[in-house]
Amino acid sequence: MNIILFGPPGAGKGTQAQVLVDDYGLVQLSTGDMLREARDSGTELGNKVKDIMDSGQLVSDEIVVGIISERIEQPDCANGFILDGFPRTRPQAEALDHMLEDKGLRLDAVIMIEVPDDELFRRIDTRAKETDGARPDDTPEVLKRRLDVYHQQTAPVLPYYDQKGMLKTVDGLESVGSVTAQIKEILEGASG
Ligand code: AMP
Repeated sequence: MNIILFGPPGAGKGTQAQVLVDDYGLVQLSTGDMLREARDSGTELGNKVKDIMDSGQLVSDEIVVGIISERIEQPDCANGFILDGFPRTRPQAEALDHMLEDKGLRLDAVIMIEVPDDELFRRIDTRAKETDGARPDDTPEVLKRRLDVYHQQTAPVLPYYDQKGMLKTVDGLESVGSVTAQIKEILEGASG
């Protein structure tokens, strides 16, 4: 089963992906995690994307498409993967379609975790108080920029999948457990 978890920054994509990894044996492919790892270990790629990431902008389509294309060929992805934070632009969604077709793979579901902006600001506030500001891109100022980027560049990916009849939406305001239950219901429908 290959799925996309979609939603604004802070919607809980990573948390939900982790549950699906544990319960279904899928692999979580988070372009954000992969880029952070490159940035923190100071690789050439990491140095190239550092400033863009820290300011909350998107790195180039070419870079993330290359990363995902290589990653989904690894043997651990054969049982299925969860794309978390990719695709984030229309060109990325189109490139994903092409690469899946080339590799003889398909998507089973695109799941949007819907959370309104004001709740995302509330969550970041709570996180800042709990963690003492651990991530440079985890501040209200950067969240505002990330949300602008989300609405302008990433939200237009939704109609792309909606037109294909693949888009399902879950209510991300509910508890973590309830969001998981909503997602599992969709996946059980998609695989049955
Ligand atoms: P995330 O943890 O998914 O919010 O990603 C953190 C940062 O990595 C983003 O703010 C972007 O700078 C970059 N990034 C992650 N995924 C993508 C993507 N699919 N396209 C472009 N930039 C990305």
